[in-house]
Amino acid sequence: MDTKLCVKCGVVKEVALFGTSSRTRDGFRAMCRECTTEYERARYQKNAEERRKRAREYHYENLEKRHAYCKAYNARVRRDNPDVGKQYYQDHRDEIRATVKREADALKWETFIAYGGTCEFCGDTTFEYLQIDHVFGNPERSGNGARIAGPRLYRKLRRQGWPKKDYRLLCCNCNQTRQYYGDAIAISLGLKRKVLFAILAGLPLGSSNAKP
Ligand SMILES: [Zn+2]
Ligand SMILES: [Zn+2]
Repeated sequence: MDTKLCVKCGVVKEVALFGTSSRTRDGFRAMCRECTTEYERARYQKNAEERRKRAREYHYENLEKRHAYCKAYNARVRRDNPDVGKQYYQDHRDEIRATVKREADALKWETFIAYGGTCEFCGDTTFEYLQIDHVFGNPERSGNGARIAGPRLYRKLRRQGWPKKDYRLLCCNCNQTRQYYGDAIAISLGLKRKVLFAILAGLPLGSSNAKP
C-alpha cells in the first residue's frame, strides 16, 4: 500500500487520503485531503469580509440588474414551493407583527429626530401627530408609479443622508391646514399655536385636582 507524508500535519497516510494533482511528480497533492479542506476553509473565512464588501458594492453599482435577478429568484422559489414561509408566519404571527411594528416605530423616531423632532410651523412635538411633508408637494413615486410613504420613504431619506431641501416635519394640523388654505395661513395659525403651547407649558395645569 502506497503511503505519503503530509507536509501540513506531518502524518504518513495512504495515498488514497490525498487529492490528485497534475503538478506534483507522484501525482498527489502535498497536503492530505483533511488538511486541504481545513486550509481552504480558513482561507475562505479570512476573505469573507472582503467578499461581502465586494458583493455589496457590486449590488449598488448594478441595482437594476440585481433587482431583476432577485425578482426572478423569488418568483422561482414561490413557484417551486408555493407554501414557503406560510407555516412559519402562521406559527409566529404575533411575534412577527410586533417586530415589524417595533422596527417601523424606531425608524419613524429616527426620521423625525433627524428632521428636528418638532412641527416646523407650530412646534408640536407629539409623535403621533408628526409627519414628513414634501416641501414642493410632489409625493414620491416608485418605478411603477406607486406612492412611496412610511418606512419605504424613511429608508430612502436615511440612504440620502436626510435631505432637508425637499422635506420637512409638520404636525397633521399644520399639514392639513397647509393643504386646504396654503402655506401663509398654516404658518400664521401655527405661530399662534406655538404661543399657546408656550403659555400652556408655563401653567401649573390641574394643580387643584391632581394631588398625588
Ligand atoms: Zn495532513
Ligand atoms: Zn404644527
